[in-house]
Amino acid sequence: MKAAVIDENGELDVLRIEDIPEPKPGPDEVVLKVLAAGLNHLDIWVRKGRPGVPLKGPHILGSDAVGTVIEAGENVHGPKVGDEVVIDPGVSCGYCESCARGQHSECASFGIMGLSRPGTFAERVAVPARNVYPKPSHLSYGEAGVLSLACVTAYRMLITRAQARAGESVLIHGIGGGAALYALQLGKLAGTEVIVTSSSDDKLGRAAKLGADHTINYAREDVAERVRDITGGRGVDIAIDSVGAATWPIDLAVVRKGGRIVLCGVTSGPVAETNLQAIYWNQLTILGSTMGSAEDFRRMIRTVEANTLRPVMDEVFPLERARDAMAKMEAGKQFGKIGLRLTP
Ligand code: ZN
Repeated sequence: MKAAVIDENGELDVLRIEDIPEPKPGPDEVVLKVLAAGLNHLDIWVRKGRPGVPLKGPHILGSDAVGTVIEAGENVHGPKVGDEVVIDPGVSCGYCESCARGQHSECASFGIMGLSRPGTFAERVAVPARNVYPKPSHLSYGEAGVLSLACVTAYRMLITRAQARAGESVLIHGIGGGAALYALQLGKLAGTEVIVTSSSDDKLGRAAKLGADHTINYAREDVAERVRDITGGRGVDIAIDSVGAATWPIDLAVVRKGGRIVLCGVTSGPVAETNLQAIYWNQLTILGSTMGSAEDFRRMIRTVEANTLRPVMDEVFPLERARDAMAKMEAGKQFGKIGLRLTP
């Protein structure tokens, strides 16, 4: 089968389309014929590699996909051959205390499709049967292929961790990427007032069309000042932050007394100075969040179906052009999700 693989860590040129053996389903696993897949920033990090962690190549990239079940291994009682399914990319042991509590993302052996297992940028992929869910029927294959990782990440941040409620205000830094856009869409479904930031007026205009109530261009406006103006000096209830070091001082300045800050990534760096007085005096709650549990995924899929939510699509490339797709994401020029088409 054809797959987008890396044999070594490095820049874009290490990504190649190769012919490799098809996977066989292990016990409790199904094999999918992949119809479409989705790119995430995780794919860039996996390709570049972590210092000191050698790659056991060739490794297939990709965490998101929609596909048809074509084979089921031993003990599989759920999905049947012929079912069209999307993948929950969070893979866990299924038995430990965290898994038993439904908090799979806290499992000690938590892994991700495309990171700790062969990924989805391939014509076939083997996946634990408990990680597949029926494809939402209102979505095209291209849309279903880009749903999983970013949407469950946004769902856990905003709904499970921050427990956003109707009438609350939410600040989302850096609109344009997958998780931020899903957070905007989920925030509007939850009845919250959403404020987004970007350095691009074009992205802010598109976010406004998707329902963003207020937009701030951080390249020429003071975010904290604008948020105070918008909220009448009160501050926002929730700040959603995947940027980290660069936006942390802003978070502390813009959340109201008793507000919540959700950290879910640190694209600008992991180390920031903190005025601890701002946390205790203002009764702040700091929440960490990574991807989502099986229960988060199930609820996310139900929310998407019940509200016919559609992913914001940037562009879908054929598998053969995986390198172009990744280059576009790496340049940060996209608005919405970038996908791969596996079947003509
Ligand atoms: Zn576990």
